[in-house]
Amino acid sequence: GRTAPARRRVLLKLSGEVFGGGSVGVDTTVVREIAEQIAATVGRVETSIVVGGGNFFRGAELSQAGMDRSRADYMGMLGTVMNCLALQDFLEQCDVDTRVQSAIKMEQVAETYIPRRAIRHMEKDRVVIFGAGAGLPYFSTDTVAAQRALEVHATEVLMAKNGVDGVYTADPRKDPQAERLASLTYDEALSRDIRVMDQTAFALCRDNSVTMRVFGMEGAGNVTRAVLGEEIGTLVTP
Ligand code: UDP
Repeated sequence: GRTAPARRRVLLKLSGEVFGGGSVGVDTTVVREIAEQIAATVGRVETSIVVGGGNFFRGAELSQAGMDRSRADYMGMLGTVMNCLALQDFLEQCDVDTRVQSAIKMEQVAETYIPRRAIRHMEKDRVVIFGAGAGLPYFSTDTVAAQRALEVHATEVLMAKNGVDGVYTADPRKDPQAERLASLTYDEALSRDIRVMDQTAFALCRDNSVTMRVFGMEGAGNVTRAVLGEEIGTLVTP
């Protein structure tokens, strides 16, 4: 049956930028550290992860440089899979059972995305990493994070951010008076024109009443804390 998860179940979105450590490719030191933080939560929380691919390719940028947008987006999606494999490797080095599910079929490297199977994996304490985005050009991995969260019945979306640690009253990089909010509703975020993520992802979470926590990657142990449900960053509620 379609039962609610017995335990806390989260969908963690990690941007590709973080994986690259600021350059193209994978910074293994960073990925190892993230894996260790996730490993510290296994058994207590059911976790699935959507990984971005901005450290390899962004379709919009390649298309501005003259490539066909769809083909460029597929390159972007393939980049996310490399990040998934890196994260899987370091999670396994921490003795965490891990499955990568790809939205684009590639049987030698990953399972195909099957939502009910993803749920079963989580119930068995396996961390599930979703790769290749939605398998659809013109989408972003933020949107996929919201969609996957809904489909696997995650109780919370955790948006790990680079360079900002939550939602502020104004842009903290421009306005020194800006203050971080502990929580706000989707409607408040809309009316204040706060842009913490792509608008499609935002709309999906709002319309389907999913709670979302926006937090910063920078603080030591922040990923662990967010996954375990500590009140860091900003909670966005329906
Ligand atoms: N992408 C796509 N469809 C998806 C997810 C991603 O076409 O469902 C492509 C898109 O070109 C995007 C790239 O993959 O620029 C990398 O993803 P994203 O930019 O979301 O990664 P992040 O910014 O989180 O690193």
